[in-house]
Order: sequence, then C-alpha cells, then structure tokens
Amino acid sequence: MTKQILLSTPHMGDREQEFVKEAFDTNWIAPVGPHVDAFEQEFCQVVGAKHAAAVSSGTAALHLALELTGIQRGDEVFCSSLTFIASASPITYLGAKPVFVDSDRTTWNMNPDLLREALEKRAKLGKLPKAVLIVHLYGQSADIDPILAACLEYEVPLVEDAAESLGATYKDKSPGIFGKIGIFSFNGNKIITTSGGGMLVSDDENIVARARFLATQARDPAPHYQHSVVGYNYRLSNVLAGIGRGQLQVLEDRVNARRHNFETYQQALGKLPGIEFMPEASFGRATRWLTCLTIDPAAFGADREQVRLELGKQLIEARPVWKPLHLQPVFAECESIGGAISEELFDRGLCLPSGSNLKQEELQRFIDAIDRIHRR
Ligand SMILES: *Cc1c(COP(=O)(O)O)cnc(C)c1O
Repeated sequence: MTKQILLSTPHMGDREQEFVKEAFDTNWIAPVGPHVDAFEQEFCQVVGAKHAAAVSSGTAALHLALELTGIQRGDEVFCSSLTFIASASPITYLGAKPVFVDSDRTTWNMNPDLLREALEKRAKLGKLPKAVLIVHLYGQSADIDPILAACLEYEVPLVEDAAESLGATYKDKSPGIFGKIGIFSFNGNKIITTSGGGMLVSDDENIVARARFLATQARDPAPHYQHSVVGYNYRLSNVLAGIGRGQLQVLEDRVNARRHNFETYQQALGKLPGIEFMPEASFGRATRWLTCLTIDPAAFGADREQVRLELGKQLIEARPVWKPLHLQPVFAECESIGGAISEELFDRGLCLPSGSNLKQEELQRFIDAIDRIHRR
C-alpha cells in the first residue's frame, strides 16, 4: 500500500507531552496559567520581541492587532494580495476595507516601490490608509526596510503577518518585530504548532497588555463583571501553550529540515526546463516553510494543474500557490494596486510536500513523479 504524502503535517518533539502532563498534574486546564506566561516569555526570546500575548489563533492575533492599531468602520488598510484569506478577513471584521498591493518577483511579497507610489498618490488625495499590513509568505520575509521607510514617511502604522515565517530572518532579525504589531500562527500546518494558536508581539507594553485585556472579554478591574468595551474570548489554553513550549525548543531543527527538503528538490529538479523555484532574497534566511516552484507549461510540457492532478493520482498532495485576494469573489469590490505578478505566480505556482518529518524516500517519490510527468 502506498502511503499518502501530505503537504505539511505536525511534527512533535520530545518535550511537548511532558509540558502537557505538567498542565494536567497541576490542573491548569484553562486559558490562563504558567505555560501561557512562560510560552510568551520564551517566544519573545526566540523572535527578539519585547512583549507577547498568546492567543487562540493567528487570525485572532491579527484581529486584535488591527483593532489596537485603531482600525474602524469605513477605514482602508493596504494589504498584500498574494496571501491566505486570514490576512485580510480581520480587516473586514472591523468593518474596514482592504486595498490589495501586488508582489515583487524576488520575494513574492509586497512590492516596496509599488507601496511607496501608492502612498504618495493617496497622500496627494488626502486619503492615506489607516495601516499597511504586510505578509511574510511561505517562510520568506518581505523586504522590510523600504516598506517601513515608506510607512514612516507617510505616518501610516505597519502591521506584520508573520504567520508563515517564524524562524526566518531579515538582516539577522525575525520578521514580525519591525512594525507596530506583529502576529504569528501555530496552526497545524505551520512550522511549529500547538494544534491551533497564535501570538501577538509588540515593543509597546501597553499594546500587549491591552491585547490580553481584549482577549479575555475586556473585563474592567471590578469584582462584579463590569465591561466598558466589548472584548473577545481569544486567549490560548494553558495545555496548548505547553505544546508550544516544547515546539519552540525544536524550531531551529524544523527550519533546517524544511530547508533540507528545499535543497533536495532543487538539486534534483532545478535544471528541468520550465521549473523555477521561489528565490531566496539576499537579505535573510527563508525557512522554506513550504517549498514553492513555478511551472512554465510551454517549456515543461504540462501546466501546474496537470502536474498537481497527476501528483494527486499518485497520492502526493501539492497545492496551488495562494489565489491572490484581489481575485477572490468575496473581495470583488475591493481596489487592487497592480496584480499581474501575483496572478502569474498563482497561475504557475505549486507548493510541494514540505513537512519537517518527510522521509528521504518520500522526497524521492515526489522527484520521480515529476521526472515521469516531464518525460511523457
Ligand atoms: C495561517 C495563516 C494565518 C492565520 O493563522 P491561524 O492560526 O490559522 O488563524 C494568517 N495569515 C497567514 C499568511 C497564514 O498563513
């Protein structure tokens, strides 16, 4: 029986069960407790943030981040177009509107020149967005310096969605700590996981304290359950924070394993006509959370969908690169600044099996399958 090869599956280390057992032994089975506090502190050390709040998902973290940036009904937020829907949904939770910005070819992330031009135009119209939300896609940081410089010049706050890029670097620092607020995700398919969870980070202690307050139903300091604003139930469970503490200890191993997958694929397939791997930008280390490539159908002899479907028949899961958000039916009314690059990446882009627990035989099975498709 052939075993199915999946895109990205959870990969536990040695310590997670110990931490979970400790939560059981001490009866801290609640969205509060010592693992939550320790996970926040340890996470800060890993990414170099000053303060962090552990929450129930990356989406929840982003919702809080945007609310704490002051986004309100009717506001506009500039957002990367080439990303997962969860980058933009929280904009709409607040009644604000996303405006999508295209990618550049070297990073696949938001194009800094396009952003600067758009901000310049909007400044002249007196219609600057209330925030810029950049995404660090597939384990690679966006080119943060020019983006931050443009945001500073026009005094628009920067929020970073680093859900896919824990473990990456931008000039030796972690993406997610440059903007006003950054967020990370520990969903089941991410580089480390708590089954579900997220983290909000900021250098501003008040923002993080406010995030914790809003994430626990915004309870005023009174014994009788008094509320002056509406909050959320977004805190991370102490049990899951235990898993997170164990996972943090193996993050570096997970990055190395995913980079090894990439190198194996690239060595074997990089010279095939029409195949191009996602480039690694010179400013830092990509984790290769997912190995991605593009297929030029004329040169390769099959298009992305043909390849993906053929792989599926051989029980190998591969997925198209994110459908750009400016092409999503739900955002049909939203403005898009550029779009041709992300459209082409979507058209030709494929995400390969990339789990840190893939075996050499499984990588080889993928390589052989692509070779066969190419030779036909
Ligand atoms: C996974 C992901 C999120 C959402 O994180 P969850 O923890 O699943 O809510 C947000 N943005 C991007 C780019 C993601 O890949």
